[in-house]
Amino acid sequence: MSQIYSNLKFLGFGDQLDALRERRVVAPVHIRIKPINHCNHNCWYCAYRADQLQLGEQMDLKDRIPEAKMMEIADDVVAMGVKAVTFSGGGEPLLYKTLPEVVERLAQGGVRVATLTNGSNLQGRMAEAFAQHGTWIRVSLDSWDDDSYAKSRGIASGAFTRLIENMRAFTKLGSKCVLGTSFIVSQDNHSHLAETCALLKDVGVDHVKVAAAVVSNDVAENNRYHRAIMAAVSDQIERASALNDDGFQVVNHYHETDERFEKDYQTCPFLQFLTVIGADQHVYTCQDKAYTELGSLGSIKERSFKEFWFSDENRQRLYGVDPSQHCRHHCVAHRKNLAINDYLRLDNDHRFFV
Ligand code: SF4
Repeated sequence: MSQIYSNLKFLGFGDQLDALRERRVVAPVHIRIKPINHCNHNCWYCAYRADQLQLGEQMDLKDRIPEAKMMEIADDVVAMGVKAVTFSGGGEPLLYKTLPEVVERLAQGGVRVATLTNGSNLQGRMAEAFAQHGTWIRVSLDSWDDDSYAKSRGIASGAFTRLIENMRAFTKLGSKCVLGTSFIVSQDNHSHLAETCALLKDVGVDHVKVAAAVVSNDVAENNRYHRAIMAAVSDQIERASALNDDGFQVVNHYHETDERFEKDYQTCPFLQFLTVIGADQHVYTCQDKAYTELGSLGSIKERSFKEFWFSDENRQRLYGVDPSQHCRHHCVAHRKNLAINDYLRLDNDHRFFV
């Protein structure tokens, strides 16, 4: 099975690396679009809703990208040569009714499409659109049965069973779209990780990405929480990994998260590769700073995304973010930034001595 997660994907995009060296701005490779902030679940660890986490301080749950604006964004994305779009939250992206039309528009323009989802609406036209045009779907999970799922997400019992049915049905559509899941490890669920992976393999999902729940923006508190279960989680991951074969993989992203908080670099090169469009029609640096004042690059309410992205205002904002000062919180791109910075620092004469 080929590898789908890597911190080195940036190596495939020389235009963006050249632009960074010259402090120019070219089109991002990948955009995350948050179509809607409404969600039908209420996960206790959701970075956009949980009080103890920094994200989403300015998020309005009623925001959604107007349909006409969404199509304008899709057309800009195609015209700019952006390679991939992932729909994500904010809210639950598959609750955005016209998403199938947006997916089709992007795919027809040659843009690869993916979505993060809770899977509750992975059915009917939504499922068919991604089955036909999607590169991947990743369903977030944190539970092992109806009761644990209902408790973790503040919803009625029975939703876990329906989710499993949705995923089973999706695997029967005969699609090339990769169906992945992420298992967000907490103190409450870690002892059920291996059995959940076995269930998901039986369902027919392609992989389970195992990741740690971020429970605090305080690095010491976050680490304390996970240290208490780390040995047991390792044991569960080892047992789950015994399920790996050509059609199923357990991908281990569980680790201490302290390295993702403190940063010693003064610009964020990853911003030239990935950007985020929020349901409030603001462009944000990244998912870790979406719906925060510091993360806002600018509004596209009164202008197109393309016009904004290539503006001097955006260039100044992109190169003005100082992670050592502005991002002393969890950052999903930290390892990628370390790798990109390492590459950009290479001496031009010495790079030939591989
Ligand atoms: S360093 Fe991380 S948190 Fe800060 S802007 Fe870059 S991607 Fe976002």
